[in-house]
Amino acid sequence: MSLMRLAYASEATFEAKPVEKGVEPHVARILMTSRKNNAKDHLVGGLYYGNDRFFQYLEGDEDAVRRTYDRILKDERHRNVVTLIEEPLSSRTFSNWSMKYVPLSRDVRKFLDEQGLESFEPSSFTSDQCEKMIELIRNSSQDQNLGRRDDRKSVGDAPQVLSSGMKVGLIVAGLVLVGALVIGGTML
Ligand code: FAD
Repeated sequence: MSLMRLAYASEATFEAKPVEKGVEPHVARILMTSRKNNAKDHLVGGLYYGNDRFFQYLEGDEDAVRRTYDRILKDERHRNVVTLIEEPLSSRTFSNWSMKYVPLSRDVRKFLDEQGLESFEPSSFTSDQCEKMIELIRNSSQDQNLGRRDDRKSVGDAPQVLSSGMKVGLIVAGLVLVGALVIGGTML
């Protein structure tokens, strides 16, 4: 099975709805579908959305990447799709994200400043800038929690169901309960 990687830039055709927190609703729908489909196809990658532009990176089995890209190219929610990287890959470089989402963040602004770029225009990125964007996606700890992370098998990825504060609270509550039962028992 041969692997490949692919990156492209495009322009959103929808009018972005203002959101104070969370993900723009059109982008949220795209992400949900992507995560569902990409997880099935064992594709990994990431999506940046900002300034009405998309930058997406995908890697995985060549057939699956190409099939997915064919669907993406036909999608009317974006236009002027420019393929930036399309090449074989010797081994996977992303661990477990079917589609990691990073909004236009402080990291990207820093990257734009460093590159002397005024706005996020990924279609004119050089190959070096593409690699830097991919690195940003790979290293980003940000993600809007739309669905679930795809592989939580490793210990480091285990979801934090209870915060440490809640754990301490539960232990204290347990001790108080035991104490009350003991005192209650001795008074009977
Ligand atoms: P469906 O079940 O047909 O649709 C899923 C949802 O998307 C439905 O709610 C449907 O109403 C909505 N939808 C589908 N097409 C449109 C449309 N043209 N306009 C409005 N709503 C629509 N797909 C992936 O599988 N993996 C990706 O990584 C991926 N990345 C994308 C990145 C971008 C920037 C965009 C614009 C799209 C991306 N997509 C991706 C979506 C892709 O273009 C197809 O819409 C999707 O793969 C269809 O999959 P499906 O048949 O399972 O979805």
